[in-house]
Amino acid sequence: MSEAASRLCRACGLCCDGSLFPTVQLQLADSVQALKAQGLRIQHKKKCDFFDQPCSAFKNKCCSIYQERPVRCRAFECQQLKRLAQGETREEDALKKIQEAQSMIDVIKKLLYRLGPTNPKKPLLQQYQQIIAEPIDSFQNSTSDANCGVPPVLASSSINYTLSRCAPEAPGTSSTEANFERSLLTLSAEKKFVEERMQLDEALSNLNEFLNQEFRCA
Ligand code: SF4
Ligand code: SF4
Repeated sequence: MSEAASRLCRACGLCCDGSLFPTVQLQLADSVQALKAQGLRIQHKKKCDFFDQPCSAFKNKCCSIYQERPVRCRAFECQQLKRLAQGETREEDALKKIQEAQSMIDVIKKLLYRLGPTNPKKPLLQQYQQIIAEPIDSFQNSTSDANCGVPPVLASSSINYTLSRCAPEAPGTSSTEANFERSLLTLSAEKKFVEERMQLDEALSNLNEFLNQEFRCA
């Protein structure tokens, strides 16, 4: 590996931290025992040995078992490294692509955190899948009383419609006002929840497209 490639990898880590791949499959030439002894958490399912990412050997943005790393790790070269080796990109441009991917990932992590709980030790995609496993109307279902019996809504125009349905016909009593206030708060939180779920979908889809184009191998 060239020095420029090595500098890029040290600034990156996308192929070890669960951003590019959820798992790494071991090959016949890999010694499961030796890799386990190095601290890799090897699993065995359907006649395959593999380990999950983020990799337990990925420490301080480096592979802590570099000399003994598995075959697939040795063989993998992302698109940026290939382009660099072929003179199709410059180190600074490849670094910008890495930083762009990292910024997109940061946005996704913030959204996951807000919509969580998720397990940050799991690959990004699995955290996302955990979030979307919750039905999008779960928020509305849990607050059906506050919705005044109006069916779950998604669009903000529908939420405005719901608000008008929830408005008390004869405002003035303190309990009616309190209920209305609660409805407003619930609908506002509900709208934010749905918007952030939509932002997460879009951000994940954009990241996946970007990683396919710029990092994963064709
Ligand atoms: S994705 Fe590419 S640049 Fe990043 S660590 Fe892996 S091989 Fe290196
Ligand atoms: S063994 Fe090393 S190169 Fe392979 S995924 Fe883990 S940290 Fe990355």
